[in-house]
Amino acid sequence: MKKLDAKKLLYPGVITLLSLFFIVGVIFGWSLVIHMDGAYPPYEAAEAYAPAPRTPAEAAQMLNDAVALAAEAAPKTKTESRASIADGGVALSAADGAEPLPERYAEIFRSDGAEHRLEDLYNASYARHGEETAFGDPLDRLLGSVRLAAGDVADFTCSDTYYVCENCGRTDDAPFGECPGCGLAGVCAERKRDCYILTLYLAAREELPAYFPLRGDADTEALFRENGRGIFTVRSLAADRTSPRIRAEIGRTDGRLERLDFLTDITLESTLDFTPAYPGYGAAAVRAVLEDDVRYTFTWPSIVISDGEPLLPGKTFVVEPGKSDAIRYAREPEEGGLEVIWKSSDPELLTVDGEGYVKAGKRTGEATVTASFEFGGRIWSDSVRVSVRVPAKRLGLNKYRLTLAAGDSGALKATVYAHEYLPQKASVQTVTWYSADESVATVDRDGTVRAVSPGETVIYALSDDGFFKASCKTEVTA
Ligand SMILES: [Zn+2]
Repeated sequence: MKKLDAKKLLYPGVITLLSLFFIVGVIFGWSLVIHMDGAYPPYEAAEAYAPAPRTPAEAAQMLNDAVALAAEAAPKTKTESRASIADGGVALSAADGAEPLPERYAEIFRSDGAEHRLEDLYNASYARHGEETAFGDPLDRLLGSVRLAAGDVADFTCSDTYYVCENCGRTDDAPFGECPGCGLAGVCAERKRDCYILTLYLAAREELPAYFPLRGDADTEALFRENGRGIFTVRSLAADRTSPRIRAEIGRTDGRLERLDFLTDITLESTLDFTPAYPGYGAAAVRAVLEDDVRYTFTWPSIVISDGEPLLPGKTFVVEPGKSDAIRYAREPEEGGLEVIWKSSDPELLTVDGEGYVKAGKRTGEATVTASFEFGGRIWSDSVRVSVRVPAKRLGLNKYRLTLAAGDSGALKATVYAHEYLPQKASVQTVTWYSADESVATVDRDGTVRAVSPGETVIYALSDDGFFKASCKTEVTA
């Protein structure tokens, strides 16, 4: 019987294995190159303006700093007052000394929508707070006095992190093992929010701090009485406020106050006499717990150069040599009377007029265009890179098929066109060359193809402007 020769088998085995690795590498390497222009950059969290607080004193300081910054810059402020009742937050029971209420009465009271009506009335009656106020107007009065001492804060939470499923995009406040959306495991990625959500629980004391904005208890009572019109009259009512807290949304990268909520829990204890429209109800005690929220929402002055939408980082405007184009922007405040100043970093390359119209000279190149305006004693600005060039629309090769004998070489030439059909050339003519199989043929930076060994491969060119792709089928003969 013939003995199996291990040495003879080893050689082809290793070669096969190496070839396999090579082929897999080429396929995956190529899929990367081919999909290049659609690829997103990997996620990288922007650096925070200030570190997250670790102690109540640091949390108080973070709020003070954010308020001080806002008071100085005077963003537009919208104020509103809201209330919410948790599901089943209204409890109805027999008044003191009265017969116990049958449960069905409580059911009728609830199913009649009393809870929602109470919420609605509570919110609506404070509509006068919901008007947008002029830039800079309320801040001196309302926020000028918000200064927390270290001892004012009993406890706090600060969150700047959330979690996203890399497969389906579902987001969650807490990390997850298996995605609740798509069920896949190992797809949970940590992300940073644009803002810190800071909640300060105020230390217990006799009176709320003077800066803490509240709607009056008389208003609260009036609401309750109003809510009962046609259903009940109010015999007595007491409102008790507890758990004062401040919730702030502070820009993580710029320290800007985006929203400020002053929250309390209000417990309303009331004795009601139902009207004859509700026969048999008689008197009842109602206990309702509301979360009361006096909210300030801030819109900061800003100017954002846009392309219809805000521009992605690194994106440039393209203007052809000798031509002009308008740069659009969005500004806050939108109102007129604020002059926008436009500037070009290289007026010989391109100029920009007072309306944001850029005019390019004959030369190609890049410059920065900046738009700025003055508001509240500060300069607000945004800038964009403008490239003067004839943009690429198509890539052509001098040959699309090449046959070479092993050891010979041939020249490929790429031309980047500015039109899909016409032979007009684009400004940037540089391309990058690749060979799909370098064991058959290699390609130099200048497009010189060298035939290595018999076989077939494809030589690719990728334009530096626009990532247009062209290919040449290459055959190497013995
Ligand atoms: Zn998912």
